[in-house]
Amino acid sequence: AITSLEQALARARRHSDTTAVLYIDLDNFKQANDLHGHQTGDHILRQVAARLSGAVRAGDMVGRLGGDEFVVIAERVDGPEEAQALAARLIVAMSVPVEWQDVRLSARASIGIALASGAEMAPLELLACADLALYQAKQRGGQGIDVYDETLQQRLAQRDQVERDLREELSQGGGGLVLHYQPVVDTAGTLLGVEALVRWARPGHGLLAPDRFIPIAEASDLIIDLDRWVLATAARQVAAWSSDPQLAGLRVSVNISGRHLVSQRLPGFLAEVLTATRIDPQKLTIEITETVLLDDLTTVAAQLDEVRRLGPQVAVDDFGTGYTSLAHLHSLPVDTIKIDRSFIAGMRDPKDASLVRMIMELAHQLGLNTVSEGVETIEQLTALKALGADHIQGFFIARPMPPQGLQTWARDRLQVPAVK
Ligand code: C2E
Ligand code: CA
Ligand code: CA
Repeated sequence: AITSLEQALARARRHSDTTAVLYIDLDNFKQANDLHGHQTGDHILRQVAARLSGAVRAGDMVGRLGGDEFVVIAERVDGPEEAQALAARLIVAMSVPVEWQDVRLSARASIGIALASGAEMAPLELLACADLALYQAKQRGGQGIDVYDETLQQRLAQRDQVERDLREELSQGGGGLVLHYQPVVDTAGTLLGVEALVRWARPGHGLLAPDRFIPIAEASDLIIDLDRWVLATAARQVAAWSSDPQLAGLRVSVNISGRHLVSQRLPGFLAEVLTATRIDPQKLTIEITETVLLDDLTTVAAQLDEVRRLGPQVAVDDFGTGYTSLAHLHSLPVDTIKIDRSFIAGMRDPKDASLVRMIMELAHQLGLNTVSEGVETIEQLTALKALGADHIQGFFIARPMPPQGLQTWARDRLQVPAVK
């Protein structure tokens, strides 16, 4: 493949046209290999190779770089659009299910593209660019296509810097991290608990929202260090509040990343935190997003069981955005479902409203509690009450705020009668 690429690049220079390399990586190959054995894995690879060869243009070259990584060299392309169209075709060709013995699997792949025209470029250099684009494509969660350009290089460098800075921040004790707490109330407006949401005062960048650094941390075990900092800090906050008459009974929810849960390191650390702070374990809730349940149901369920044995409750976050089979839900060790705010936002649409109603009925039949997230208007609140909502969270009640802010908020609320 490297030799062919070298020759293709020389031809492109001579004829001043453009060569594209498509770096292809299967998203779910390791899983298929682990689950169904190496023979099945080999069969999938052969099928993928055949599909690729069948879907490229006449004259394009298909090679395997190793493992589940393939490369396509396409000469004389008009530009990035043509290469992207080819990549899209390849993804479709690969995704047609492969049948082998009693297994039926569809290969999902991501593709990174790099183009070379007149400029002198070594094959490995161009492949490295395609690999960076692939990395970027993978970040979007599978079946992505990305094209390399200079801004991509910059974005990736910035991303690396965020990761290094956050690692440094955590190794120094996390003094620049803060938790804001967003109230969760019942439909009568009584404050029941809060969700801990992390922010980062990154030097020179202001206060960063979690979506600016959590996804980066989630690409490595850095997320476990971050989650641990949050868990320990939230538990200390519960301990501090226990002597405050307004805040003593509050439950605190902490978000735990799927990677952390699957690492099987959560229960041990949770036990340490509970011992160190001596808080009532039932004051803690662990939130995991619904998509985590798809990862490895057996491990996830066992880990959640252990969490609950220690005392904390378990909530499924962003419910409705994943594909949890409703039938699964009753066998999972969870206490609460948090209905994703996209459904609440769309509640004026009768279809969304009936989805919310259905989720709530199901939850209640399974003996689960619901939290409706992202409630922003009185209309939404009224509609939710009519549907029998349990708990409410959202900007209409309050935004996330620092601990001092919460204290004031809770006190001021006591002085006005609750809204009907
Ligand atoms: P999430 O767990 O779904 O948290 C709720 C998010 O919705 C928060 O955003 C909150 O500020 C926002 N929100 C609450 N009410 C409303 C509303 O009425 N309208 C709108 N538009 N938004 C509302 P935030 O704090 O930016 O957090 C974003 C996400 O980052 C969280 O989503 C969670 O997935 C993640 N995250 C936050 N803190 C942590 C953490 O400590 N650990 C981990 N692993 N993830 C965290
Ligand atoms: Ca959450
Ligand atoms: Ca959520």
